[in-house]
Amino acid sequence: KCEVDEFRSTHQIRVAGNDVLTPIQNWDQLGLITPFMNVIKAKRFKNPTAIQMQALPLLLHGRDVLACAETGSGKTLAYAIPMLRHVSAQRRSLPGEGPIALVLVHTRELVIQIAQEIQDFAESIKIRVVCVFGGSEVKFQMSSLKRGCEIVICTPGRLLQTLTVSNGKITNLNRVSFVVLDEADRIFDEGFEPQIQTIFSILRPDRQLCMFSATFPKYLSKLANELFSRGRDKDELAAEK
Ligand code: ADP
Ligand code: MG
Repeated sequence: KCEVDEFRSTHQIRVAGNDVLTPIQNWDQLGLITPFMNVIKAKRFKNPTAIQMQALPLLLHGRDVLACAETGSGKTLAYAIPMLRHVSAQRRSLPGEGPIALVLVHTRELVIQIAQEIQDFAESIKIRVVCVFGGSEVKFQMSSLKRGCEIVICTPGRLLQTLTVSNGKITNLNRVSFVVLDEADRIFDEGFEPQIQTIFSILRPDRQLCMFSATFPKYLSKLANELFSRGRDKDELAAEK
């Protein structure tokens, strides 16, 4: 226990919540599949970053997590690896079927950036990632969605538009069991809370949820606790570099 506290303080990791798992020190402790380890090696990611050390074991354990760490600290991979493992444990989507995991962000640029960051991992296990955002590529996005995919990375408004069929009914989120709000502070600062609430009202209550943010405003932990408590235990994590 003391050693864990010491390890955390060395890496400037702070936590709150019940039974927060011990942070990992190296990649080998995660027992990842070979394709993922190969990508990590190819990318020359020698060790997990501080946020990855603490968030990875929690998310791989199925917990809901609110994670805060500065920009450039490797937050994408901290949720992408657990998300990809979660998705890969289930059968692939059939044509017309919706995704298993959802990543919500506030801009199209961020959608594209995240897709690039996780592309090699997804390809290594043949997981299909579709980006959904407003603009010129809408037709292409729709046809990719119709073919079936396992992960959707999207902006909230465009996701709702894409999923709303003519009678106003929203379809195709029934398989979603892993949800990420990345740059969560920005999502709410930009006024997307109504769309987020709509999306969560459709999602299965037992979905796993994680929120990643560069800042840790009070309203964010309040929102996290509301969204977490809909389906699962309340978990909270704060880690700062
Ligand atoms: P954040 O979302 O926290 O701003 P990103 O996930 O975009 O950070 O990662 C920032 C950069 O760090 C990316 O180029 C990413 O490939 C790289 N990176 C991620 N994890 C590691 C790691 N364990 N070791 C070295 N570099 C990493
Ligand atoms: Mg990021």
